[in-house]
Amino acid sequence: MARTTTDEQKGVFYDCGKCPAFCCSVYERVAVTKKDLQRLAKYFKVTVEEAGKRFTRMNGEERVLRRAKDPLLGEACHFLDRKTRGCTIYHARPDVCRTYPARSRCAYYDLLQFEREQQSDQPNVIPLVTLTFPEVKIPDEE
Ligand code: SF4
Ligand code: SF4
Repeated sequence: MARTTTDEQKGVFYDCGKCPAFCCSVYERVAVTKKDLQRLAKYFKVTVEEAGKRFTRMNGEERVLRRAKDPLLGEACHFLDRKTRGCTIYHARPDVCRTYPARSRCAYYDLLQFEREQQSDQPNVIPLVTLTFPEVKIPDEE
């Protein structure tokens, strides 16, 4: 979700500019805090209530960004530019987008590179990635 991080930065091994923005697509819930909502409202020059209605929805107790259809990956954040694959509210994006992936590697970028290499270095190969979180029953330890 950083979208400006490049592998030319010291200690960084992913390049958002060469990625179709998996992170803005695979995570169905991008959390929006009160501070994030205020930032969105200020950016769009609307009230906090209006920003909440227009740009977010409630998922149980949690407020999250709205999503929309994405021709490339099925569904993605409402704010993802479908052509450039960049964030259209970069300076107003939620905190969680600012910190992701919070480490020197991005698993999705590693997967992208791996698959492209597997497919004879085809730069247009895009592995389809979805995330599900099924409840798994862990057997009791014997
Ligand atoms: S999935 Fe990783 S490389 Fe791709 S845009 Fe997100 S943070 Fe950047
Ligand atoms: S707000 Fe921007 S960075 Fe965050 S998920 Fe949406 S498009 Fe990606």
